[in-house]
Amino acid sequence: MTQKFRAPLKARSSLLTPWESTGLLFANSEQPGNEIAPLDSNSSCRKMFKLVLNALLMSLDFLVVGSGLFGATFARLATDEGYKCLIIDKNSHIAGNCFTRKHGVIDVHEYGPHIFHTSNKEIWDFVNKYATFNSFVNRPKALFSNKLYSLPFCLQTFYELWGTKTEEEAKKIINSQRYTGEIRNLEDQALALVGRDIYETLIKGYTEKQWGRPAKELPAFIIKRLPLRFTFETNYFNDKYQGIPNQGYTELFLNLLKDIPIKLNVNYLHNRNFWKEQAPTIVYTGGIDEYFDYCYGNLEYRSLRFEHRVLETTSNYQGNAIVNYTNKEVPFTRCIEHKFFSSAQCKETVITREYPLNHTKDKVPYYPVNTEDNQALYKKYSALASNESNVYFGGRLAEYKYMDMHVVIESALNKWKKLKKVKQVLF
Ligand SMILES: Cc1cc2nc3c(=O)[nH]c(=O)nc-3n(C[C@H](O)[C@H](O)[C@H](O)COP(=O)(O)OP(=O)(O)OC[C@H]3O[C@@H](n4cnc5c(N)ncnc54)[C@H](O)[C@@H]3O)c2cc1C
Repeated sequence: MTQKFRAPLKARSSLLTPWESTGLLFANSEQPGNEIAPLDSNSSCRKMFKLVLNALLMSLDFLVVGSGLFGATFARLATDEGYKCLIIDKNSHIAGNCFTRKHGVIDVHEYGPHIFHTSNKEIWDFVNKYATFNSFVNRPKALFSNKLYSLPFCLQTFYELWGTKTEEEAKKIINSQRYTGEIRNLEDQALALVGRDIYETLIKGYTEKQWGRPAKELPAFIIKRLPLRFTFETNYFNDKYQGIPNQGYTELFLNLLKDIPIKLNVNYLHNRNFWKEQAPTIVYTGGIDEYFDYCYGNLEYRSLRFEHRVLETTSNYQGNAIVNYTNKEVPFTRCIEHKFFSSAQCKETVITREYPLNHTKDKVPYYPVNTEDNQALYKKYSALASNESNVYFGGRLAEYKYMDMHVVIESALNKWKKLKKVKQVLF
């Protein structure tokens, strides 16, 4: 029997902070620092000047917009060095896309599967301060016409496709199938890189569903490389460190955000004049086009619909955390079985099917559509952002970039190091 999930749980109420109850935040808005007229010049000198004045007059150092990985990391780093931060988020929960929800002993990855991986020891040590990690290794499978294949493309996959057992045997088949003509689109590119069997079995249907267009109509640059591995190693990532927080990502965020005040269900853009006056420096992690009221048009995204199901009478649905569905006819791209991200033992299971969607403003933007037009548009918004006094932009939406979690943490670390220098010069 299947049962649809209820709406996501709210974050712990203890995190919903003293700000609201004490009225402290609103007292701040009365402070004289808010009377300083905004300077219209963009020079960094004036920017710093305003930063100093405001900082002297107000008690908050940073207003962080967004409690996702970028905002949370930034707020933690600043708080640990004695700066006062307030985080606001328009969502009803913390952790942005990394949010996980408990279903009994199973941590459900609400917005798609999240596997932490990095080769950077500083980043690995950082996240390990806030959670213990299990030793999960991502070994996804692909299902095509009722047959399972191993990913990434490796000797195991080639054995499953053709029965070949060595690099030499596999390369002979791949090379004989490679397209050698002019590269006009994504299909040509993929055929040139891996040949027809791998393309048609494991790439074509998945990619067309993901982007909502035939591969022949997609630009070639979407696929720059398609790594082929000539060993039987099926560990998807090459990184030195990999795992999932033992208690889920939400628990990691609760520790990361300890003692940092947060207000949920607050959209910065609905009352930006008020919020801008609450702190001398704003760190904004929302959509950059949205911030500027789409004045140059909207940046294109692909969206996703997650269909979560509890299977009450099934303890093992697919025997693996991630299975890609590579047939075009199946409308979803992946099926996730969350219990296999950990060693959760229970009689039921929870699965999530991921359906790609066109993005409209009422949907969550997930994957930037990385065309030249969109990059040119982003550059225009980015130029506006660099002129915005006392507002710093970071994270996947503000930078219009797909970033893995370790990349987001690194980006927040760098942003903090840069901003800290500005603050230190000032005080
Ligand atoms: C399907 C999927 C699977 C992924 N899997 C992996 C994986 O396996 N491994 C990996 O390393 N990475 C993975 N990622 C990437 C990972 O999700 C991102 O790196 C990370 O979530 C980005 O964090 P962020 O803070 O930049 O953005 P977000 O998590 O989106 O956080 C932004 C926050 O800002 C808030 N916000 C936005 N606008 C406003 C506003 N106006 N006012 C107030 N609040 C606002 C939002 O509500 C949100 O909480 C995956 C991404 C997707 C889409």
